[in-house]
Amino acid sequence: MKICVIVGTRPEIIKMQPILFEIKKRNHNLIFVHTGQHYDFMMSDIFINELKISRPDYFLKVKTLSQSIQIAEIIASCDPILKAENPDIVLVQGDTNSALGGSIASAKLDLPVGHVEAGCRSFDRHMPEEINRVLIADIATFNFAPTENCMINLQREGIKSENIFLTGHPIVDVLSNISNKIDTTVLYKLGINQKKYYLITIHRRENIENKEKLNEILKALDLISDKVLLVFPCHPHTELQINKFGFSNYLKKIKTIKTVGYHESLSLIQNARLVLTDSGGIQQEAAILGTPCITLRNETEWVESIEKGINFLTGHESNNITKTITEVEKNYSTIQEKFTLAEGLFGHQGTACRILKIIEQELLCR
Ligand code: UDP
Repeated sequence: MKICVIVGTRPEIIKMQPILFEIKKRNHNLIFVHTGQHYDFMMSDIFINELKISRPDYFLKVKTLSQSIQIAEIIASCDPILKAENPDIVLVQGDTNSALGGSIASAKLDLPVGHVEAGCRSFDRHMPEEINRVLIADIATFNFAPTENCMINLQREGIKSENIFLTGHPIVDVLSNISNKIDTTVLYKLGINQKKYYLITIHRRENIENKEKLNEILKALDLISDKVLLVFPCHPHTELQINKFGFSNYLKKIKTIKTVGYHESLSLIQNARLVLTDSGGIQQEAAILGTPCITLRNETEWVESIEKGINFLTGHESNNITKTITEVEKNYSTIQEKFTLAEGLFGHQGTACRILKIIEQELLCR
């Protein structure tokens, strides 16, 4: 079978790794397309290298233009490749413009689309990612839902049950394969100690492009940094916005570093006392690696971790953030105990294998 995988950003490269491996293991013909949505070394190549993924067959250099123009460019650049390669199926992951553009280009050529991480919803239609997710679900023939909750979301949107498959999330495979490689080298490099710092990541457009929200979040971080060391691998887009709004003074007491590679990221998450983030992937990784998480948003797609009491929503307001931290610190040992009950939150190992088996059964039997 010829299987085309389209990725474009850091989280897609990471989460598709076990699926790329499984495709090759099962001797299918893999066509690997990278749209170039994330293009610099620290946002793309470092993950391809660290996760031992083969180089993309096609690297499209889509530009970081407005959302719609970027999606249009991705559709236009995928179209000739898909026409020439004519794969049996196209796989996309998550909620990016690359995933949506790739799905539309495939659907227009009548190629079946498989969506990995289907059905997770924030129910906030102002989020560009939410629009992408909903549209991809409608296009996809195979919606690979990571959790029961995601499956229910798809059913509620009227996606037919024959197009929904409960598989678990490939991040579980990624972390199972890599867990023995998480060491503490990065802590020595940064001169920090286990469980003596909070890890910070912020990159969602709704937080960093809104001056007032970014101001509130950074104000909270500035206050917290009087009491505890904050380590902040700063996303290039966030750095740009902080400079644009003239907020760099807030970072004076914070250990602000460039973004890190995947092994270092996992080590920083695992060894942090707390993680403060607006990232979807990091919420999941913190839950699996056993670190309490504070999510700097009003809602999350990963409600499972909120329900288990290991992830806490604060929104962007400075007061709410600091109040939640005080609460979490007060109940820290009780929260830690809850992680044992959170096992299997995003499914169990073997998601990539389950997804490939479904594709083989469904497509080869047609
Ligand atoms: N990550 C990384 N280095 C960093 C920050 C994040 O390797 O400096 C990883 C992180 O461990 C997670 C993924 O990038 O696996 C999350 O990507 P991002 O936050 O950009 O996207 P989201 O998950 O919010 O879609």
